[in-house]
Amino acid sequence: MLESNVEGVEQSVSTGTLPEWERVDSLVVASHERNRACRDGAVADYIPVLARADPELFGLCVVEVDGGVHVAGQADVEFSIQSISKAFVYALVCEEYGHAAVADLVGVNNTGLAFNSVMAIELNDGHPMNPMVNAGALATTALMPGSTPDEQWKAVQSGLSAFAGRALEVDEEVYQSEAATNTRNRAIAGLLESYGRIDRHPQQVVDVYTRQCSLRVSARDLALMGATLADGGVNPVTGQRVVSADVCRDTLAVLAANGLYERSGEWLFEIGLPGKSGVSGGLLTVSPGKAGIGAFSPRLDRAGNSVRGQQATAYLSRVLGLNIFASQACAPQAGPAGAR
Ligand code: GLN
Repeated sequence: MLESNVEGVEQSVSTGTLPEWERVDSLVVASHERNRACRDGAVADYIPVLARADPELFGLCVVEVDGGVHVAGQADVEFSIQSISKAFVYALVCEEYGHAAVADLVGVNNTGLAFNSVMAIELNDGHPMNPMVNAGALATTALMPGSTPDEQWKAVQSGLSAFAGRALEVDEEVYQSEAATNTRNRAIAGLLESYGRIDRHPQQVVDVYTRQCSLRVSARDLALMGATLADGGVNPVTGQRVVSADVCRDTLAVLAANGLYERSGEWLFEIGLPGKSGVSGGLLTVSPGKAGIGAFSPRLDRAGNSVRGQQATAYLSRVLGLNIFASQACAPQAGPAGAR
């Protein structure tokens, strides 16, 4: 494995700044306006209660690393966080065990297959591959500190609440609906146990995972959780350090490679930022050193990513200058630094 944490070498950081406040504010509203009419995609229905979501809901929020908030549409409507929880549980586990151990146990590479693929596990000798698909997320949740499932759950709930800066609660209806129908996740956990990839009771791991997916958040919450990852691990509103800056960097790299499942490459190509989607229609995007973006719109593409959320974020990435791969030619008069 490549090793980037070279001992004794300080990591220097270069990110940039957002445009001025009024411009960000008006572009968030413009992005919402531009994408409101889109009806593409379909609401998830494999978890019965999610099928009843109002497909018209559409909220957008940007939280800057100084805590400033920009909203448009239904940014305060709550929904279950679903797979977006995977990003934060991964960060908490990295904080506990460190960069190398988690990379080894759970992995960081894309499967190229659906988020709930069983085949991906079989094709990789039982390795869960990455923490953003269900197999890797179950393996990650199993690593949460705590000697009982209840202690692990409390650590998940308080950890995600620290990212959000408020106490997040479980949506009992979503939890019950998923717990009654998640036979596939139970099978995945059993398979991981058979390969020695989890050493806790697999069905108890599934239960903690199902609760974590049922936590209620809004687009505003997602944006602040993302801003905490953008801000080197410090929640910009509460001032609490939740995880280290190194853990944020690692988490964002994993999101860039895997956050939108088998469409992660297309996402990175179009938007150029780490992101994470969930099947209830939430979408979290992080612009390192600048801001977190939270979007909510329940209609999904075939991989399970919010369609309007992706479009609204694509627009913001472009107009706010967030794409981490974009550059411009150096001004000709400046010349190479050594010649000045
Ligand atoms: N709780 C959902 C599941 O395990 C989360 C999946 C998702 O958001 N893609 O199927």
